[in-house]
Amino acid sequence: MVYCKYCGMAYQDVRILTANQCPNHPAGRGCRHELYEGSEKKQYTCKYCGLTYRELLTLTRNRCLRHPDGKSRCHEPAL
Ligand SMILES: [Zn+2]
Ligand SMILES: [Zn+2]
Repeated sequence: MVYCKYCGMAYQDVRILTANQCPNHPAGRGCRHELYEGSEKKQYTCKYCGLTYRELLTLTRNRCLRHPDGKSRCHEPAL
């Protein structure tokens, strides 16, 4: 499976992922999912604040207090 780095949704392959709209894309509605280029892990770490989550789905939907673009942005997974 491949994952979107902004919402954590899983797809069978990259072409399907990038063809679909992302509900949590920082640039707004209508943008497509973007590929999380890291490997599958037992837990995922936010690259800005270091918090860890078991699921990308959870990590990407929670606000990151250390995000450089502001406190309304969500965690982003480290690779
Ligand atoms: Zn997405
Ligand atoms: Zn974070």
